[in-house]
Amino acid sequence: MKIMKKKFIIANWKMNPSTSDEAQRLVKSVLTAQIPKDVELIFTPPFVYLEAIKKLLPKEIKLAAQNISWAERGAYTGEISGLMLKNLGCSYVIIGHSERRYKIGETDEMINLKLKAAFKAGLTPVLAVGEKEQNDDIVKILTRQLKNAFKDLEAPEVGRLMIAYEPVWAIGTGISDTPDHALSAALLIRKIVGNLYTADWASDLPVLYGGSVTEENAADFIGQTGINGALVGGASLEVLEFTKIIKATQTND
Ligand code: PEP
Repeated sequence: MKIMKKKFIIANWKMNPSTSDEAQRLVKSVLTAQIPKDVELIFTPPFVYLEAIKKLLPKEIKLAAQNISWAERGAYTGEISGLMLKNLGCSYVIIGHSERRYKIGETDEMINLKLKAAFKAGLTPVLAVGEKEQNDDIVKILTRQLKNAFKDLEAPEVGRLMIAYEPVWAIGTGISDTPDHALSAALLIRKIVGNLYTADWASDLPVLYGGSVTEENAADFIGQTGINGALVGGASLEVLEFTKIIKATQTND
């Protein structure tokens, strides 16, 4: 596997905070910390704050959306298109987050269409995959999720896709995966997509870990050569904790 120096830290705010002022304060506070040059920091606020947050970001800090419509335009009340997100300054979009799969009912087929919509709009998808229960068969589940997600898709250009391994049982529970298991899942993901496309392509693919990442455990995940960063939910809403997670990218290299 090639060694990728760059680490990605994604702040997934989910449906928080409740005002635009708070959202802007949160970003401003995080940005008072020094962001290491080899870190791609990505904020993923709710749709309604994207425009305000974009105005606060220097160009090296990126904006992501939490969801995307599979449709390009038209009669889809309540949906947000890829082009709208691109025009608001988003670079990335999270697709297939387990909260959307299991609380909203997104299917593998919808996720496949959303990936296609994101590529068409020029957004870089962060595809989230992961097993629901700790004793689930992860080979079977990750293979199904990844095969279905990439159905009828050519290998995306290098740098135009990220995958987040997010075991559902670890999301928002305070029970994180072990770094060793997360690493083996990241390797498995590369093996599965390597079989779909090529092993070389898969070795360049950034694979992140997400699931109860905290200031205490961040370095153990991010410090692994085969894990290219972290998707951080709850802890990304706490300025001090989140800045420590960003700092953790600089240890264990
Ligand atoms: C997430 O939102 O994808 C996530 C991993 O949340 P948390 O860090 O709170 O577990």
